Amino acid sequence: MTGRSPSTPFDDRVRPDVAVVGAGPIGLAIAWRCASRGLRVVVHDPAPGSGASAVAAGMLSPVAEAYFGERQLTGLLLASAARWPAFADELTEASGAELGYRTEGTLMVGLTGDDLAEARRLWAYQQGLDLPVTPLRPTELRDREPALAPRVRGGALAPTDHQVDPRLLVPALRTAAQRAGAVLVPQAVRHLSEVDARVTVVAAGCGAAALTGLPVRPVKGQILRLRAPGGAAPGFRHVIRGYADGEPVYLVPRADGEVVLGATVEERSDTTVTAGAVLRLLRAGVDLLPELAEYDLVEAVAGLRPGTPDNAPILGPLPGRPDVLTATGHHRHGIVLTPVTADLIADLVTTGVADPLLTPFRPDRFAGTAPDPTAAPGAADLDVPDHTLEEDS
Ligand SMILES: Cc1cc2nc3c(=O)[nH]c(=O)nc-3n(C[C@H](O)[C@H](O)[C@H](O)COP(=O)(O)OP(=O)(O)OC[C@H]3O[C@@H](n4cnc5c(N)ncnc54)[C@H](O)[C@@H]3O)c2cc1C
Repeated sequence: MTGRSPSTPFDDRVRPDVAVVGAGPIGLAIAWRCASRGLRVVVHDPAPGSGASAVAAGMLSPVAEAYFGERQLTGLLLASAARWPAFADELTEASGAELGYRTEGTLMVGLTGDDLAEARRLWAYQQGLDLPVTPLRPTELRDREPALAPRVRGGALAPTDHQVDPRLLVPALRTAAQRAGAVLVPQAVRHLSEVDARVTVVAAGCGAAALTGLPVRPVKGQILRLRAPGGAAPGFRHVIRGYADGEPVYLVPRADGEVVLGATVEERSDTTVTAGAVLRLLRAGVDLLPELAEYDLVEAVAGLRPGTPDNAPILGPLPGRPDVLTATGHHRHGIVLTPVTADLIADLVTTGVADPLLTPFRPDRFAGTAPDPTAAPGAADLDVPDHTLEEDS
């Protein structure tokens, strides 16, 4: 593929090389990478950055989130996390923006004996994969984070699990993509036949289901934001995650005093915030870190993760449509998976050759599971769920 210099503005009457549907972290990062290679890129989204990323915590946690039965996904998460330091540098340079990228590491903790027993099973599994998980004695844990509750029975350190602020990341990606020459069109795509480009990339999060027929479903997550009193930094530096009386919970400290406390995982498609969820999250958070009780509660919000039947993303050509690539279904991991998704999809667009890393995540693993809405436009195809178009949070 021949390209143009990224700095050359392009004539919008000329057919784009790439149309990206969706301006969340995934779509914008793909647009940036493609435009930086000199391709003509158009990005369609009525409300850029309004999807799951608008509420996401931004943990980059391939180790703490290496779960039983998800080895291939763990491999992709590790590959993406390894790209994060260079990706963050490059993006900061290209956008001139801070990302809130922090590398203090993650502490995984258990409040009660039962919580610790459950956590230890997972750490043993993670260590069996040769992942960097270091169990800590209670004194070592408190040396690292004195603000942890004395009741916390034990923990482990995952030093390579980092964090970024998605509310800084997405605007930075948008700036970088536009500086590289990508053009944003503030409209929803209701059927793929509306898009005219050599290659279409569907990166619409939960909105991908209506456009492609792929089994992407909304998985609701309620999440809270707190703020340390008096404009101070939070009294802890690591991401802290674990179990508190059986409740899985995480706490993400930001340099500006914010603490993100999350999150529920619910098989629902509404974005209502419920009193019960807020109560459970606050109780679990305060049990692990008592000082949170003194923080301001500044936001309670819900978002919809783009989930898939095997919890893994859907990356590559749509069956029967080699001109349509999907980059969706990132579920709980879209922020950590942004660099690898963007690089590998941009490679696929430019060379036509799929990196072997993509093989387990091809869309055709779900072939035959749903009707094909790309076949022909019709009334039934126009069922774009409302939530994909919300300008929430
Ligand atoms: C509570 C919560 C916490 C999370 N925490 C983390 C975390 O700590 N770490 C992590 O890695 N991930 C986390 N995630 C997951 C992460 O937010 C998602 O995986 C990620 O945002 C997916 O990115 P995306 O660009 O594919 O989709 P989204 O961020 O959902 O963006 C999709 C975009 O597509 C647009 N769109 C939809 N339909 C159309 C259409 N028809 N036409 C045009 N545009 C359309 C939408 O307007 C939106 O801008 C969390 C998610 C939630 C809900």
